[in-house]
Amino acid sequence: MTTIQWEVSREELAELLAYPRRKMRDNMDVRFCPHAAFYNPVDERCIYCHQDMECKWLNHNDELVSIEDKSDEDIKRELTKAMDYVEAQLTAAHLNRRACTCDNCNWLNRVRKVLAVAR
Ligand SMILES: [Zn+2]
Repeated sequence: MTTIQWEVSREELAELLAYPRRKMRDNMDVRFCPHAAFYNPVDERCIYCHQDMECKWLNHNDELVSIEDKSDEDIKRELTKAMDYVEAQLTAAHLNRRACTCDNCNWLNRVRKVLAVAR
């Protein structure tokens, strides 16, 4: 297992994971979910669900799972996935602005910094 020299505390890492968690929860449509958004790896409805990425991420990164129990590699991987998710939410207007200060861009900049150091 790799140990990463994080530039930030575990508390800050936990806080960085909280932002995409809120976002994914807000955006997820669970009206048709047969499992109340608890990912079930043996149900093929889950495997073919269009929200499977968010669902898996949320189940894996629930706030009840202590950040202290997570490995460095795990945190890095989950932050990277969350980055892809938040990036995909950016509209063209964001991308055209050179220094956008919206919540999404602020978060992305923080994570990029954290991951660049950790790599
Ligand atoms: Zn922005």
